[in-house]
Amino acid sequence: MIELTGTIYLKAGREASARRFHPWIFSGAIQSIENNPAEGDWVEVKDSKKQPVGFGHYQKGTISVRLLSFSSLPNKNIYLEKIEAAFTLRSISKVITEKTNGYRLVHGEGDGLPGLIVDIYNGVAVIQAHSIGMHRDRHRIAEAIQEKSAGLVHTIYYKSQNTLGVGTPAENEYLLGLGAVPHVMIEHGNKFFVDWEEGQKTGFFLDQRENRKRLAEMAEGATVLNTFSYTGGFSVYALAAGATLVHSVDASEKAVDLTKKNIELNGFDPQHHACTVADTFDFLKDKKDTYDMIILDPPAFAKHKDARHQAMKGYQRLNAEAMRAIKPNGIIFTFSCSQVVDKQLFYDTVVSSAIQAGREIKVLQHLGQPADHPVSIFHPEGEYLKGLILFVK
Ligand code: SAH
Repeated sequence: MIELTGTIYLKAGREASARRFHPWIFSGAIQSIENNPAEGDWVEVKDSKKQPVGFGHYQKGTISVRLLSFSSLPNKNIYLEKIEAAFTLRSISKVITEKTNGYRLVHGEGDGLPGLIVDIYNGVAVIQAHSIGMHRDRHRIAEAIQEKSAGLVHTIYYKSQNTLGVGTPAENEYLLGLGAVPHVMIEHGNKFFVDWEEGQKTGFFLDQRENRKRLAEMAEGATVLNTFSYTGGFSVYALAAGATLVHSVDASEKAVDLTKKNIELNGFDPQHHACTVADTFDFLKDKKDTYDMIILDPPAFAKHKDARHQAMKGYQRLNAEAMRAIKPNGIIFTFSCSQVVDKQLFYDTVVSSAIQAGREIKVLQHLGQPADHPVSIFHPEGEYLKGLILFVK
């Protein structure tokens, strides 16, 4: 059973965003707190007239409550209902297919579960909690995933050691089964090793699936540079599509090893692939007229608003270097996954790179995150991945 501990009363008028299904209650909106709830407790939120607003997880900090329900008191089945809805969405949107068994099952607020991420890799679910409430409810969540996966999920790994902040000890552990890493999953028919224990985040960047597919549509016969390659996702798709040479570059040796393994796993001719452990900025310096296509998929340069200015300089320089280097009639896939850098800001930065590079450039397409990373229309903060396909004359 969900046990309610406290009640949060809002200041007059501050219920408006929750009435529009925005799930965050900020500390500044709170008038009073009854019963002194502990971190991660379930609380009820009421407006200044004591009318119900919703229910959710309480936590000290700027976001004081993450709402999981905007109506009645959730019964013990709240996770069952929400996980079922998440599976249904992936099925309706055709994310889960015979050729794809790696997908995001829960994308936080986009799936009505603020503070929770669940990625599935061919029968293995990796749960990541970003709130103490989700951490405390992890066993309930695991049970719901197991029950609603219709036998598809045989292993559940809980990985939140680095996502909960100081003061909340969360050991990484198996909640179901015992995984054997690395483990193979498929994405549009391409095979990838996934290592959720040692890998970054939950082990793989599923959010680029459709953008990798788009790259494949354009990569036949091309020489391709994949920078910030990590597991080599874009490299594998380019080779599968018949690129003549793919060069993967990442600053981490571990990442480059993973890329090599994935190239082998798919049975590609190693002659068509090269990889280098290097800083992308250095690597690009003497590569003029070497590649037909360049992929720029850096880590989030800005994790907070304070870091945004410095980050924009990074994106600006990176894109300008690639624009200078690429062959005539070349294609650049450029991305930013910084949530605090919105689409317009990213676009404007790329424009400024183009001015600096001094080449004629056209925007062919805007790219974003796929259907298994849904964004609640009332919670635009859930949108983080943006990209552009550029044509450089
Ligand atoms: N494109 C990848 C995901 C990139 S994650 C995919 O499709 O899965 C970001 C990667 O950038 C990490 O592997 C990290 O090791 C690497 N990285 C960070 N800074 C770098 C730099 N300056 N030069 C090259 N690689 C870098």
